[in-house]
Amino acid sequence: MKLNDDLLVLELQVNLMGGPTLLHPVVILDDQAGHTLVDAGTPNLEDAINAALGEVGASLKDIKRVIVTHHDLDHIGSLPAVIAASGAQVWALEREIPLIDGRERPQKRPPPEQVDAMLADPNTPPHIQAMLRMPPITVQVDRALHDGEELPLAGGVRVIATPGHTFGHASLYLERGKTLIAGDALTSQGGTLGGPPPQATPDMTAAGESVGKLAGLDVQTIVTYHGGVVRENAKEQVNQVAEQMAAAE
Ligand SMILES: [Zn+2]
Repeated sequence: MKLNDDLLVLELQVNLMGGPTLLHPVVILDDQAGHTLVDAGTPNLEDAINAALGEVGASLKDIKRVIVTHHDLDHIGSLPAVIAASGAQVWALEREIPLIDGRERPQKRPPPEQVDAMLADPNTPPHIQAMLRMPPITVQVDRALHDGEELPLAGGVRVIATPGHTFGHASLYLERGKTLIAGDALTSQGGTLGGPPPQATPDMTAAGESVGKLAGLDVQTIVTYHGGVVRENAKEQVNQVAEQMAAAE
C-alpha cells in the first residue's frame, strides 16, 4: 500500500511461530537516490517483495540499499536473496552489525549446548526445532548507521537507536511525512499501538526507554513491522505506550 509519495508499505503473508501472520517491510521511495527497502522478511519472500514493488512500477533491481532494523530472522530471512537480485547495499546501526554479519551469535539463539539439548527434547515444538536446525543467516553490512544521523533520502530520514528488542535495534523517522518506521520497537493491532512483545524482547527496561525517546517525536503516522499502519492519534498513542512501559518497571 502506498502511504504517501515517500513510502510503500508491504503486506507479506507468512507463517511465524507456527501460525499465519502479516509482515510489513516498507520501501522508502526516492527516484534520485534510489529506493530503500527496510527489512526483508522471513526466508523465500524475494518474489513476493519483487511483486509488491510493482505497485510503484519498480522491481527488486531498483532497490539500492536495505536498512535492517535488527537481525531477527523474520527481518533478514530474505536479505541474501534480495541482495543477489538487486546488488543493494546493507545498512544497519553500528551495534547491530556483528549480529548481522555473524561475529556474534544471534541474540535470542541459545548457546550451542542448549540448542543440542532442545533438539533432543521431544517437547520442543516442531517450529522451534526447525528454527534451531537452520544455521543463522549472516550478511555483510556495508555501512554503519549512528543514532541521530540524518540520511539524505526522501526529504530526510533520521536514524533513531531504539535498543531493547535487540542490542542495536534502529527506528527511522521520515521528516517530510512525520512518519515513524518503528520496526519491532513498537507493535500494533488494528491501528492500536502496543509495546514490543516481552517474550521476544530481552531488555524490556531499555525497550521502554526507547519508546520514551520515540514519544518525543512529532509523529503523524507509524508503521510497525508486526501490525502495520497506525494513523489515529499516533503521537498520543506513543505517549500512552511509553507511560505504560515506564509504569511497568
Ligand atoms: Zn520481528
